[in-house]
Amino acid sequence: MQRLKQTLSRIDGKGYKAYKDIQGEYAFPGFRLTIDYVQGDPFAAPSRLRVRMPMERAGYPAEWYREKHRRIALEDWIARCWARQTKRHSFEVKGTGKSGLIEVDRPGQEILERTAVVVNEAFVEVRVTVGLPAQGRRVLGRKAEEMLCRQLPQLAQEALPRQTLDPQAVEERMKLVDNQWAIRRFLKEKGWIAFIANGAILPRESGISDKPLSRGNVIPFQSPASLEVEVNVPHGDPIRGMVIRNGITLIVGGGYHGKSTLLKALERGVYDHVAGDGREYVITDPDVIKVRSEDGRRVEKVNISPFINNLPFGRDTRRFSTDDASGSTSQATNIMEALEMGTTCLLIDEDTSATNFMIRDGRMQKLVAKGKEPITPFIDKVRQLAEEKGTSSVLVLGGSGDYFDVADTVIMMDEYRPVDVTAEAKNIAQAQVNERTREGGSGFGTVTPRQVLAQGFDPQKGRKEKVDAKGLHHILFGTTAVDLTGLEQLVDTSQTRAVAEMMRWIGKRADGKKDLKALIDELYQEVDEKGLDVISPFRGQHPGDLALPRKLELAGAVNRLRTLRVR
Ligand code: ADP
Ligand code: MG
Repeated sequence: MQRLKQTLSRIDGKGYKAYKDIQGEYAFPGFRLTIDYVQGDPFAAPSRLRVRMPMERAGYPAEWYREKHRRIALEDWIARCWARQTKRHSFEVKGTGKSGLIEVDRPGQEILERTAVVVNEAFVEVRVTVGLPAQGRRVLGRKAEEMLCRQLPQLAQEALPRQTLDPQAVEERMKLVDNQWAIRRFLKEKGWIAFIANGAILPRESGISDKPLSRGNVIPFQSPASLEVEVNVPHGDPIRGMVIRNGITLIVGGGYHGKSTLLKALERGVYDHVAGDGREYVITDPDVIKVRSEDGRRVEKVNISPFINNLPFGRDTRRFSTDDASGSTSQATNIMEALEMGTTCLLIDEDTSATNFMIRDGRMQKLVAKGKEPITPFIDKVRQLAEEKGTSSVLVLGGSGDYFDVADTVIMMDEYRPVDVTAEAKNIAQAQVNERTREGGSGFGTVTPRQVLAQGFDPQKGRKEKVDAKGLHHILFGTTAVDLTGLEQLVDTSQTRAVAEMMRWIGKRADGKKDLKALIDELYQEVDEKGLDVISPFRGQHPGDLALPRKLELAGAVNRLRTLRVR
């Protein structure tokens, strides 16, 4: 620390570049400070630092981090503490540009594996970004000393050792994630899709907020008796709630009665949520995918023939490519790509679906002959999908009773309360003869894996490689913009950043022989063995702002890369 102070006083008042001299490692009382990267000027991306405290000093019991789900929960907890604390200090030290900024990647409502904090047997490490202070382009050495040698040590004292983390609250967090883990295991064992605990709060504050709705009348979730199950959890009483089994589940009900809200909660249930979120015990199979129509997206040689055939001009739909997909072809593509990745269940909302993809009634069948209609609607494929491929579906459909014929379970949302109306729906289906003819053919059809070519990935921008996330749903890959708006289960910008890096990795490993799924599996295997840091492009610098995305979102991003080429 003395050495750092000396350097800072030596470079005080010099040009900003002189800050490069402080790169390196320093012993501080109780921890080690590593300055990995120093920014080039006060407006540039901030400098990257690490604060590492030996475990003997931090004093965490091994039960807090031995199991993976607990370790992730602990790392998340520490990241939140630091994000809160750094906010207090940030910009206390004033100057030009980002001078005085101290930041740690801030988690949202989900508990995700992220690179902001690392806990293991040897140490706990927090990755911090700092705006080194300047006046104009001159080094403010005194102020830098204030940040690095007073504020940081204070943070390390206040938000790292066990007793400063509120051990009671950490224990509560551990119990929560243990229970979430137990429900996930329960679903897996049964082969079921989702569990929604009684009392869960599903609606969100607003269309742009992920916080629970608290104003006005909020109706807590309550399972209908016929769909209620009880799950044993390691901490506390068994938890009761509604189960969504494998097969085909229909969510019906009047407009504004909470159908989409229920589906959204299921989408997000692939992640664990923090206490107080309302969706703590809304748990979904980790491989379910929300699919929607997404006209305008690019498609690269996807076999969409199970849904689309006889396109004008005899275009081959077994290797369908387009730079501008329609509503129905984009939705078919999204489904086929998800099947390629081995999804367990499709979540589909009428609000974001192409109507002609979902249904075609008897009258329309009479008017437009099958030979003239390229689309086999989803209704004629959904059973084959479940029976042949083992892929379930949960469908929000307030507009068509035709699906009563194919559904296993029908749930009606009635003023935000789910009612099991399966028997009534089946009775109606039986009493009223359906005029429509089945169009599904004898089987679902083939899911064709694709081999990725390296040439489609060009991270080059000018002379440098550059990939970056521009907000939650946009990536700049070299000079190509990738639009991820269709990936509704991407929840954190740090995931998007990771997706961008992982795409670069895929591009380097693609050889025209390996399937996209095999490539992605390989990458996740490596991440599992070595930690999420491995995808970082910075050698010797910490990647403190990445969070693990699902394989399905990574595949989704690769598939949306407009330059993608497959064999
Ligand atoms: P639908 O898809 O059936 O038309 P939505 O799910 O979009 O309806 O819900 C309509 C509105 O009701 C939304 O503003 C949503 O936030 C609100 N809402 C949903 N569930 C609840 C609930 N349990 N309690 C209170 N408000 C809710
Ligand atoms: Mg809706």
